[in-house]
Amino acid sequence: MGFQTARTPDKAEDTAAVRERFAAGAQFIGGRLRPGTSGRTHTVTDPATGREVLTYRLAGPADVDAAVAAARDAFPGWARATPGERSEVLHRFAAVLDERAEDLARAESLQCGKPLKLTREFDVPGTVDNTSFFAGAARHLQGQAAGEYSGDHTSYIRREPVGVVGSIAPWNYPLQMAAWKILPAVAAGNTIVLKPAENTPLTSLMFAQAATDAGLPDGVINIVSGAGREAGEHLVGHPDVAMTSFTGSTAVGKRVAELATATVKRLHLELGGKAPFVVFDDADVEAAAQGAAAGALINTGQDCTAATRAYVQRPLYEAFVARVAELMETVRLGDPYRDGTDLGPLISHAQRDRVAAFVDRARSYATVVTGGEIPKGGLGDGAYYPPTLVTGAAQDSEIVQHEIFGPVLVVLPFDGDDEGLALADDTPYGLAASAWTRDVYRAGRATREIQAGCVWVNDHIPIISEMPHGGYRASGFGKDMSTYSFEEYTQVKHVMFDNTAIARKDWHRTVFGDR
Ligand code: NAD
Repeated sequence: MGFQTARTPDKAEDTAAVRERFAAGAQFIGGRLRPGTSGRTHTVTDPATGREVLTYRLAGPADVDAAVAAARDAFPGWARATPGERSEVLHRFAAVLDERAEDLARAESLQCGKPLKLTREFDVPGTVDNTSFFAGAARHLQGQAAGEYSGDHTSYIRREPVGVVGSIAPWNYPLQMAAWKILPAVAAGNTIVLKPAENTPLTSLMFAQAATDAGLPDGVINIVSGAGREAGEHLVGHPDVAMTSFTGSTAVGKRVAELATATVKRLHLELGGKAPFVVFDDADVEAAAQGAAAGALINTGQDCTAATRAYVQRPLYEAFVARVAELMETVRLGDPYRDGTDLGPLISHAQRDRVAAFVDRARSYATVVTGGEIPKGGLGDGAYYPPTLVTGAAQDSEIVQHEIFGPVLVVLPFDGDDEGLALADDTPYGLAASAWTRDVYRAGRATREIQAGCVWVNDHIPIISEMPHGGYRASGFGKDMSTYSFEEYTQVKHVMFDNTAIARKDWHRTVFGDR
């Protein structure tokens, strides 16, 4: 991968490079950057310092209209390209992303506050791998075999693109979310308009630029950087958009669903999560504690599949809590650009204050074992919040039931297996879960019974391009990644040929009788 790690990265230089790159604007429409026309601006801020990275003009409805028109114009040509042609350009796209890996890793770190080791080892390689995967998958759209299912006809399936897709992404993994939305859509022959979150447009724009530089036709991928209420709602309600694909909170997802339904759009929703982490009494407690600390803290807890509620069978409970607290205390908060930093800040000061408020409210009914205090001193300017472990909360309390989206893990004890599994499902969400046990029957039961789109056994977090990601229940519906995502981004047409050449067919009797 093209990471250039010889020189120490410099934030001032990288900020200047971002400003130069987006001097023409932060809207990517028809293969070119341009400024937004909403009349309002937005500032991308480095959450580690509170300093400005880029101020850009937000997209308004006219920019969304222009992006949708560009995608509509590009659609017939791209939909007609053969799978092999689409695959070839996507392979080149993966190579260009690979060459630009270091630029992407730094821009993602700058706008999100992610440690460079996370963007270099997870966000960027995951995106390149996803691009390679969909380059191959573009040639493997599946369907039922053609055949004479009625003796008088030949039937076959056409799997066709839907048209112009309108996608909306969140700020927690901006590059990967752009990839997850864009790649299956374009691999299947659709064109797309993506709206990234207002505070993290940089790597979505760089992703689209890389696609154009790799030879993807203008208009196939368009990015509108605008506010949710304005550009987002206009995109979802747009009459020329055939499908809405949304990743974000369950609250906004409900609003998006209302708007999409009103215009009869195909809908794909990847929403919030509150993943349970169930530790049975035969588990390796050290492995479970390591997995819980890492699974709760990845991306500073701003991960929809993060471990948020650990249920630990009574005999292991004390040892688990003590070890997770110990591990959390070893994690080093710091500047995302510095070697030796384990955890960066949250995305913004507003998000930091939201997370702190959840923990502060919980003090009246639960125990904060470690963390829970906003750091002062050197980290005081950034949106930092420490790894935080909470015990003693009731199952129906806010901190157990609500998505916090920060580095906060709640641990609760349980007695019988039935109780542990019931508690795991006792929130409205169903995105991901894990079960920790050395007993294959317990593991099998947990994977069958927990209502979630992904259940890990003796691990928590890993994802892979070949396997689907998506929720059950209030976590939404539809799949990202894997060939399952083609179910979302294609429509299935049944074509049926008469084989008899007979004018009056047998079934016409239902209309004409036996005359
Ligand atoms: P959010 O719902 O606030 O915003 C997501 C996107 O929706 C942003 O681009 C925002 O501008 C846009 N938006 C806001 N209001 C809108 C409206 N009225 N109409 C149209 N678009 C609108 O979410 P967030 O705070 O950016 O991200 C965190 C959330 O995303 C968490 O709930 C997390 O669980 C979820 N998430 C889910 C997955 C998944 O795969 N299920 C992945 C990542 C994040």
